[in-house]
Amino acid sequence: MSDCSRKCGNNAVLRRPKTGDKLCKECFFDAFENEVHFTITEAKLFKPGSTVAVAASGGKDSTVLAYVLKQLNRRFKYDLKFMLLSIDEGITGYRDDSLETVKQNRDDYEMPLKILSYKDLYGWTMDEIVSEIGRKNNCTFCGVFRRQALDRGANLLKVDYLATGHNADDIAETVLMNILRGDLARLSRCTSIITDSGDGIPRVKPLKYAYEKEIVMYAYFKKLVYFSTECVFSPNAYRGHARVLLKDLEKIDPSIIMNIIHSGESLKVNKTSKMPSLQNCVRCGYVSSQDICKACILLEGLNSGRPKLGIGKSSKVKKSIENKDDKVCCGGAGQCNTDKTLI
Ligand code: SF4
Repeated sequence: MSDCSRKCGNNAVLRRPKTGDKLCKECFFDAFENEVHFTITEAKLFKPGSTVAVAASGGKDSTVLAYVLKQLNRRFKYDLKFMLLSIDEGITGYRDDSLETVKQNRDDYEMPLKILSYKDLYGWTMDEIVSEIGRKNNCTFCGVFRRQALDRGANLLKVDYLATGHNADDIAETVLMNILRGDLARLSRCTSIITDSGDGIPRVKPLKYAYEKEIVMYAYFKKLVYFSTECVFSPNAYRGHARVLLKDLEKIDPSIIMNIIHSGESLKVNKTSKMPSLQNCVRCGYVSSQDICKACILLEGLNSGRPKLGIGKSSKVKKSIENKDDKVCCGGAGQCNTDKTLI
């Protein structure tokens, strides 16, 4: 390859997928880290003196996130403390292995680690859920439970922020997905770099503008240890279509990823459009757009032998639940306010 475009005197070893620049390793690290630093400072993601839980799966994104945050914290004196928060969904052959990588991250980056399991929180592992519902809607259960589990973990750790490894490709995919679904409510908030879980602990996305390919390159050249096997229950089919579409568009022009994100950021929801209002779930108190949150509905279905309950139309679900005793236990999730000590 030719000389590094930054004219540092070294040979270029890569071409940046995001900009097309030919860079040497050191200049690439510098560019990548500076861009994440810019994202953090521009959006004022963290207040000095805060504690941040990094949602850690052992995959490339969360591994790079933990590593880069540690570097930037030292280099730019953010004055932050970090912890790792992992969720064990109970997926044999996938999460059990990836958690070993998280433990390696814990030791390498000297960050305390907390692991919460679906079994302890909800009374069910994903293996058990899949044996009940099959492989069609498993990601719906998993996604809803994980989101809530991370929020509960962040509360338990009493951190000030929860940082997730969502990258630019993830955000662009989500914008596309919400357009394809016509989901205005999600479309209007899916590009937000800071979101409030409703429990007062903000979720932040420091890698929001980092391309997936560059995250892989960064991890590769830094020789970071991460887990790259796909979940045995296969990725969410709908997101898969959006991902394929995005990858095809990226081949035509890599800047399309940023363009989609910027389009999502610029969208303004018409004030006359009906948006769901947020409230607290009457059962578990978690923030919800319905009287009963999605996690409680899914659990109700699992615990009452009607696992498809939360998958159907919301009006049907509401009717079904209203016809039952409203005091059904959440299955040990601490969601019925009877057992908050579980976590
Ligand atoms: Fe969970 Fe689906 Fe992701 Fe597997 S692919 S970890 S089941 S959301």
